[in-house]
Amino acid sequence: MHVNTLILGAGAAGLHCAAFAGTSTLVVDHAKSAGEKIRISGGGRCNFTNLGTTAANFISRNPHFAKSALARYTQWDFIDLMDRYKIAWHEKTLGQLFCDDTAKDIIAMLLAEVANAGGEVWTQTSIGNIRHDGAQFQVALKRHGQAQLVTAANLVVATGGKSIPKMGATGLAYDIADQFGLAVTETRPALVPFTFSDEKFKPLAGVATPARVTTNDGTAFDEALLFTHRGLSGPAVLQASSYWVDGEDIAVSLSPGFDLASALKADRTSEGRKALTTTLAKYLPARLIEFIASELKLSGNTGDLSDVRIEALIADLRNWTLKPSGTEGYRTAEVTAGGVDTNGLSSKSMEAKTQNGLYFIGEAVDVTGWLGGYNFQWAWASGHAAGTAIAAREG
Ligand SMILES: Cc1cc2nc3c(=O)[nH]c(=O)nc-3n(C[C@H](O)[C@H](O)[C@H](O)COP(=O)(O)OP(=O)(O)OC[C@H]3O[C@@H](n4cnc5c(N)ncnc54)[C@H](O)[C@@H]3O)c2cc1C
Repeated sequence: MHVNTLILGAGAAGLHCAAFAGTSTLVVDHAKSAGEKIRISGGGRCNFTNLGTTAANFISRNPHFAKSALARYTQWDFIDLMDRYKIAWHEKTLGQLFCDDTAKDIIAMLLAEVANAGGEVWTQTSIGNIRHDGAQFQVALKRHGQAQLVTAANLVVATGGKSIPKMGATGLAYDIADQFGLAVTETRPALVPFTFSDEKFKPLAGVATPARVTTNDGTAFDEALLFTHRGLSGPAVLQASSYWVDGEDIAVSLSPGFDLASALKADRTSEGRKALTTTLAKYLPARLIEFIASELKLSGNTGDLSDVRIEALIADLRNWTLKPSGTEGYRTAEVTAGGVDTNGLSSKSMEAKTQNGLYFIGEAVDVTGWLGGYNFQWAWASGHAAGTAIAAREG
């Protein structure tokens, strides 16, 4: 069988690419259904983009690489597509857009777009040997147990990263990059909870509080922090994990952006006879206060606090230094940081510099978004960049 374009991976990037790549496009995937990560994302409602998307919301060895694709297919373009399919959406927080109903609507929309463009999707198809014979790609596939050799002028690699192997993630994209002489930057789990070997936060499991989490490079995120049986999670922590380097500390600031010193000074007179722990529990979760009470010597009454003591207490609460022993790894990481080195790709088309007609898009590439819809926006934008480049070449 011959197609003009063979796309490996029917996830967000692969499906969106197929919508633009023109007729004679085949998308293949070993999973049972297309778009499985879209289906489970955002608690089943898919945080499909972010209103504030800019290149600054992405991590890459080359921070400029994503700019071109993001500028040519913006959050507004995807919103327009959603509106055309009458899929209702809402902003939850911080520019994060979610489906009102279900993420399955987005998968159905993408599959309709692929069909409208004349493309075809094969699921439950495994990918074997890949080679370029000088004129075209030859890819050995196995569909429903039957071997099938497909030749293609263009090969788009959209098989994602290593996150959540249980859902079918593999390192295939990195192997293909390697085969065609492209470098791969070091990959690691990102948007992932931290673990602590002593499980010291076990008594606090389930407690959430606003916090600022800062990594050693000075990157800070102000969002919720959640204590878990194994360590720390919540948006502020997941964001920080993408910048964290194994072995380093993180700094946690509790109750950031709130003038706790003035509040405590006022409480000294209004509730001076109350225990300090009781007063603090107005501002921070009571279980957390109980947990840190002995370490921070939170004994005595509120009225006994001196200005110096208040300042020292605030300093402790605002600079809680912790050393994670690791992360929960690819098992739960939302994304894989690192990937196919952008130096080897065109930022306009995502085409490999070492091989004509070979493209890498989506999470497989060394472009990793923050939490909040940015990773899907990168999948849409990079898929569009490759798809339109392929269509233009044909036209
Ligand atoms: C639990 C969870 C929630 C998330 N929520 C959000 C969110 O709300 N917003 C957001 O922006 N991002 C979210 N993400 C991240 C987002 O899902 C990914 O960044 C995005 O799906 C990447 O798109 P992709 O097409 O590059 O890869 P994927 O969507 O991972 O698609 C890759 C496809 O390739 C297939 N494949 C892989 N290896 C092979 C192989 N060897 N042979 C054949 N097929 C193969 C896979 O089956 C898969 O269908 C979430 C991730 C997870 C895990």
